[in-house]
Amino acid sequence: MKLDQDLLTSLGHSLVDGDLTDRDLLARTGDTPNIRILPDACTLKIGGQSIIDRGRVAVFPIMDEVVQNLGKHKMILCTGAGTRARHAYSVGIDLQLPVGVLSVLGTFVAMQNARLLHYLLAKYGIPYIEPSQFAQLPLYLEERGAVVTRGMPPYIFWQRNPMAGRIPPHRTDTGSYLVSEVLGTRTMIYIKDEKGLYTADPKKDPNAKFIPKISVDELMAMDLNDLVIERPVLEMMKTAQHTKQIQIINGLEPGLITRALNGEHVGTIIHV
Ligand code: ADP
Ligand code: MG
Repeated sequence: MKLDQDLLTSLGHSLVDGDLTDRDLLARTGDTPNIRILPDACTLKIGGQSIIDRGRVAVFPIMDEVVQNLGKHKMILCTGAGTRARHAYSVGIDLQLPVGVLSVLGTFVAMQNARLLHYLLAKYGIPYIEPSQFAQLPLYLEERGAVVTRGMPPYIFWQRNPMAGRIPPHRTDTGSYLVSEVLGTRTMIYIKDEKGLYTADPKKDPNAKFIPKISVDELMAMDLNDLVIERPVLEMMKTAQHTKQIQIINGLEPGLITRALNGEHVGTIIHV
């Protein structure tokens, strides 16, 4: 089809006629800002191994806090996968299956966790949604105040190989981050079982020091062996349009979710 040339912007002319591998042209497509689609929504990731696998001791108080915040904050609750996914990965690796297949397995475990939480919240009218239902997200958030979805990005077979080994590199921390970034949500809060980021895994190193606030560049320069979130999140933050800050909080300490939703600096803030 021949487009009416007069209807095109100057960028439009270049895109229609030009080469999409042209670096200057690609850079120009960033001149117009992205809009924030859901600027007052909050994305929260509920840890798989760190929270959900602990069962009701950890999960019930968090569900109570979510319910207390209904009507005050619009919450997109994304679930982690955790121990069952790690077990599935280990069996899959033993059976010599590729990363894309391991990614399918992890996706279903994150979905199991989303189903578990959703049934706890069902009486408040909160739905479980698939990525294919994200178009209805605004309505659910407006009407019910929260949705439950799985943190795993829907790459399944299309998951890229990691630089080393076979564990799918983009898992539930990354998928939750991408939801926050594309929708331009107000917060990206990771609910885990530690105060936040430390200089080392506090479960293994008693001398690990707590880091209340740090930039992505500073954190990358520290080149820590172990992190509280998936590394690709840090990479993605460097090209963020919207989610330029993430917060990691301890979901085992009552009240912190509410304080983080209210914009308080609890836990660790990692920023661009
Ligand atoms: P999730 O349940 O969301 O998948 P993970 O279990 O993958 O969370 O990651 C959280 C865990 O990361 C914490 O329980 C902590 O033991 C560990 N961890 C590793 N390195 C660090 C670090 N530098 N600072 C804080 N926690 C860390
Ligand atoms: Mg994890």
